[in-house]
Amino acid sequence: MKTRDIGEAVQETAAGAILTVDLDAVAANYAMLKKQAPGAEVSAVVKADAYGLGLGPVARRLAAEGCRTFFVADANEGAALREILPDTISPAPIIYVLNGLFPGTAALYAKARLRPVLASLAELAEWRDAGPEVSGVLPAALHFDTGMNRLGMSAADAAMLAQDETLTAGLEISLVMSHLACADDAGHPQNAQQLSRFREIWERLQPRFPGAVASLANSGGVWLGPDYHFGLVRPGVSLYGGNPFTGRANPFHPAVRAEARVIALREVAPGETVGYGATWNTGGAPRRVAILGAGYADGYFRALSSGARPESGGVVHIGGAACPIAGRISMDMVAVDVSGLPDGAVTRGDMAELIGPHITVDDVGFRAGTLGYEILTALGRRYMRRYIPGSNDKRDKEGRGQA
Ligand SMILES: *Cc1c(COP(=O)(O)O)cnc(C)c1O
Repeated sequence: MKTRDIGEAVQETAAGAILTVDLDAVAANYAMLKKQAPGAEVSAVVKADAYGLGLGPVARRLAAEGCRTFFVADANEGAALREILPDTISPAPIIYVLNGLFPGTAALYAKARLRPVLASLAELAEWRDAGPEVSGVLPAALHFDTGMNRLGMSAADAAMLAQDETLTAGLEISLVMSHLACADDAGHPQNAQQLSRFREIWERLQPRFPGAVASLANSGGVWLGPDYHFGLVRPGVSLYGGNPFTGRANPFHPAVRAEARVIALREVAPGETVGYGATWNTGGAPRRVAILGAGYADGYFRALSSGARPESGGVVHIGGAACPIAGRISMDMVAVDVSGLPDGAVTRGDMAELIGPHITVDDVGFRAGTLGYEILTALGRRYMRRYIPGSNDKRDKEGRGQA
């Protein structure tokens, strides 16, 4: 076994909070998606630093698992990803930029070989007109709106594109896509409506762009059935272990564990309060409270404070049991009521689970009045990060895994 250098060992014992990202779980989730959509290419949505897990380690692992198409939100994320992905793998990885082409940035996209997901005829014209200047034939995706009313061209635009070849002269349209608004809810009637609108658009454009594939499904969409798969599916949150469904068990493997260190244990006397605002009190009996070294600056939302929400506050897994938060979440600390634990079950220096196998990211999201998606993407930069399996790549150890 390789001995760890002292710097690294000290860093680990000195960390107030540790985030462990299980890349094997990400790979297993990718495999599950492939099994569920056997007829389609399974891409990976890695926007927002791979939903907070770290773009570098996640993208390298997914590439090693055979993923060749990636989606990011903007060109800066795309340029970072281009540096991360090995240039030597074949076929070469494709990077789409979901937020499209920002005005005046075509040269940047071309340089990093990014494909904008074009959502208007104006964007399309700008990319087309940049072609001769930047690199000849330019690949791109076309985004159509089928009911989300966020981004995308209309069915009338699709009809124009089908008829007028000059509109896409010099462009190689490699993807025609739309996005589902309600894929988390299989019973929602908007799914079928969007599917039928998208089919109409695709039937019109497929003969015009024979080299293109169609794509409609995000994570939830993959489980709506093969009609929704088309040539390529675009899962995000499910890769990272979040539950893409509302009101249904999560079949995906959790990929994130966030732990905070017990930095103090105290007996709080009857009638005393804990934390800012004095919102929690011991009542008539003494209580035992553990102070943990993580807080809202680590993305552990202040909405998890006890009594902050009617659903109840957060819980932490500590000393073998789930214990409730006591009072308000501070910037760097959380107080937990451990009075229910046997003596000696918790000692200073122990680690407590904030998110992990006992307390899922979706449970934390629910308790904070939001979604697992927001909990993941809000994970702070201060955690000491560990990746499973470990990596020899120094870049994986630096902050959020950027190249
Ligand atoms: C974020 C996003 C996805 C991934 O959605 P998940 O629900 O995380 O699977 C797919 N497509 C588009 C257009 C997106 O913006």
